[in-house]
Amino acid sequence: MPLYDFKCIRCANEWEEFRKLIDKSKAWCFECGGDGISLISVHTRPHVYNYYCDELEAHITGPKQRKQIMKQREMRDPWT
Ligand SMILES: [Zn+2]
Repeated sequence: MPLYDFKCIRCANEWEEFRKLIDKSKAWCFECGGDGISLISVHTRPHVYNYYCDELEAHITGPKQRKQIMKQREMRDPWT
């Protein structure tokens, strides 16, 4: 099984995990239980969208919508 790098969208923790190809986009953070995103997809697409963000309690569909929610809740974007 290939080894993937994951990054937590909640606490920005990074880790490595062996995953089947089909499972590569799903992982959970050991630190906070947040959603992990494969860094491969993060690197090829700097902004990964169309996922449910527990922290924002919203389905993120695009950069503008995400920024808007962040702004409304006065939160800092973990990717910047
Ligand atoms: Zn985390």
